Amino acid sequence: MLDYIIVGSGLAGIAFSEIALENDKTIFVFNNQSQNSSRIAGGLYNPVILKRFSEVWKAKEQLDLLYPFYATLENKLGVKLDYKLPLLRKFYSAEEQNNWFTASDKPNLSEFLSTNLITKKWDAIPSPFNYGEVLFSGYVDTGLLLDSYKEFLLQKGLYEEVAFDYSQLVVNSDSVEYKNIKAKHIVFAEGFGLLSNPFFNKLPLDGTKGELLLIKASNLNLDVIVKSSVFVLPVGNDYYKVGATYNWEDKTNIPTEAAKKELTDNLKELINCDFEIIEHYAGVRPTVKDRRPLVGTHPLYNNVHVLNGLGTRGVMLAPAMAKNLFNHIENQMPLDKNIDIRRIKNFVSSFYQNE
Ligand SMILES: Cc1cc2nc3c(=O)[nH]c(=O)nc-3n(C[C@H](O)[C@H](O)[C@H](O)COP(=O)(O)OP(=O)(O)OC[C@H]3O[C@@H](n4cnc5c(N)ncnc54)[C@H](O)[C@@H]3O)c2cc1C
Repeated sequence: MLDYIIVGSGLAGIAFSEIALENDKTIFVFNNQSQNSSRIAGGLYNPVILKRFSEVWKAKEQLDLLYPFYATLENKLGVKLDYKLPLLRKFYSAEEQNNWFTASDKPNLSEFLSTNLITKKWDAIPSPFNYGEVLFSGYVDTGLLLDSYKEFLLQKGLYEEVAFDYSQLVVNSDSVEYKNIKAKHIVFAEGFGLLSNPFFNKLPLDGTKGELLLIKASNLNLDVIVKSSVFVLPVGNDYYKVGATYNWEDKTNIPTEAAKKELTDNLKELINCDFEIIEHYAGVRPTVKDRRPLVGTHPLYNNVHVLNGLGTRGVMLAPAMAKNLFNHIENQMPLDKNIDIRRIKNFVSSFYQNE
């Protein structure tokens, strides 16, 4: 009997697979390509919500886990994943500069917002009011992570690329059975695909579509991440990711002309050199109304679990949320009530309505 069946191998599924393997647990992963949020993500991590000048929820705790998590994966998979790059917020006025310096005085932001005005100039970005720098930021090459991790699991015979068929799952009191596999637990980490999961589809997963461009701009010569109405993230060889859009209505993975126009218009306001669009991606972020992850154990089955709702911040949240869930299952540690699915009263009560 295995310890875990894991459904989904995006950032959430990989983070859980990792912590399970690290603790000598046996796993088997089912994954398909129906969702692609992790694959196409910008991969940015940034401890500050710049729009509101507030600290990302539990940013410090998440960063403390993020660095060793991706470093261990780099070693194990033999690829470079974590690029620690300064993130610069472009200022458009003296007032914006002042707001930055006021924010950088706040106790919870002072360690993340540099008080040095960045006056360095990049030819293709006119910036008379200069930039503010967010510390401890960077990006993870999520596409490479997903491909390399799949390869690693395949080599160990721990992965099948197939849609998980929920109707075939048998839940016993002390195990789960799926086709010819028996395990102590099953962890569902399907991103927005959760909506097809009969065990958890009553959870309030909203989904926010995002689109992103990969461009080539030979004269941009940017060695930092720049954020204005879009972010521009250098990925090497004159290629840049430009993103991202937010759409709360459309729940498909299909790229749209409207989003492409929004991104190119915003990009043209930021840079004045030529660029060529190489790729255009779209995916649905697994967002939740209260902006907190959906983690925990099914109200009726103590061996059926969920790891989802990573929203707009999967890179930072995945290692921390996987650790919380693992400790909850293996060491009976209580989940933070902000992430525990038991906070969703309608979801829990829906299982007891007829009793
Ligand atoms: C345009 C865009 C830009 C983004 N930029 C950033 C960023 O810069 N930084 C950041 O931190 N986050 C970013 N995000 C958000 C981030 O991508 C998500 O938080 C994260 O990827 C969610 O990971 P996940 O593993 O929960 O879901 P997913 O990545 O969706 O992975 C779920 C996996 O499960 C599989 N699956 C689903 N159902 C089944 C089934 N029945 N059987 C088998 N497999 C199944 C899916 O196909 C998929 O492979 C961005 C998202 C988008 C769309």
